[in-house]
Amino acid sequence: MKTQILKKEQTKEAASLIRKGGLVVFPTETVYGLGASAFNPTACARIFSAKGRPSDNPLIVHIASEEQLVQVVGEVPEVARVLMAAFWPGPLSLILPRNNELPEIVTAGQSTVAVRWPRSAQAQGFLLECGQGVAAPSANVSGAPSPTTFDMAKGAMLGRVDGILMGEDAEEGLESTIVGFEDGKARVLRPGSVTIEQLAKVLSVKVESLVYLAPTEGRPLSPGLKYAHYKPAAEVRLFRSVAELPLLAESAEKVGVLLLASALNRQPEGWTVVQFKDLKSYAKGLYASFFDFDRIGCTVIWAQFPPAEGLGTALANRLTKAASGVTPAK
Ligand code: AMP
Ligand code: MG
Repeated sequence: MKTQILKKEQTKEAASLIRKGGLVVFPTETVYGLGASAFNPTACARIFSAKGRPSDNPLIVHIASEEQLVQVVGEVPEVARVLMAAFWPGPLSLILPRNNELPEIVTAGQSTVAVRWPRSAQAQGFLLECGQGVAAPSANVSGAPSPTTFDMAKGAMLGRVDGILMGEDAEEGLESTIVGFEDGKARVLRPGSVTIEQLAKVLSVKVESLVYLAPTEGRPLSPGLKYAHYKPAAEVRLFRSVAELPLLAESAEKVGVLLLASALNRQPEGWTVVQFKDLKSYAKGLYASFFDFDRIGCTVIWAQFPPAEGLGTALANRLTKAASGVTPAK
């Protein structure tokens, strides 16, 4: 398939592809999304084939106006309104009762739909031009890390989509926080850069009451949680302190290292080290570093594990999945 590369200001052209049933990759503040009209089931089906995404993993619908919201959802619980007022537009997806007009494929047959109003001005302009909700998961092949730069998005989706809208590097760099509601109570289904602590403060509840523990069997509340995710080609290993790094030995293999507010005394040949000064820059740079390490042929990536609070919770979540669930000893 021929993929049109569209300049930043060509949001009109990008939107016109969506309205014609096309697939368009577009930038947001979380990660690049792979969009199709949420009201066109054929176009939405193409999202699943472009990504190789399992059909029981529903999509997040992106909106940029109250009018677009109403077309997508049913009745909105009061607690969701509180979160919208505090965090929209922004990196927060809410699981709400669906509007019956919405095709089944978007919600994978569930009675709820995930909705997000992005903060990125470019994304908002694009969505308003589309004139309707745009269903969009991250623009990566299923299982791989989400693209946070135009180059990554292009690398993943060229030839699989009708258009790719150029944009800035994603400001946040991690997928949105997902919040669902059960009996009027909010639960975090996926941590993200709207933190659990921020949500708890706005809702005047304890942090623990928001933490969702995945059931060990049965249908997970958020179907995407059961799939492998965020994995680069290199093997990811986690460590807490630099002292745990294996002996800084020279090695025939290329090794990538991600550091959080720390430094190495010595850098062996074949090691590429990226130092992040804080959690925010780590979140922003994580997937782009995975991409770069894969590109230069690293076979192993050592990534420093953050403290699990604030933004560290979301980072720890993605790093653990990238490392196939193996967390470093305390
Ligand atoms: P992605 O956009 O690739 O980050 O994937 C969207 C995430 O939102 C996946 O983990 C989905 O399982 C989750 N999601 C989408 N719709 C729903 C829903 N109705 N209920 C629960 N989780 C959802
Ligand atoms: Mg994704």
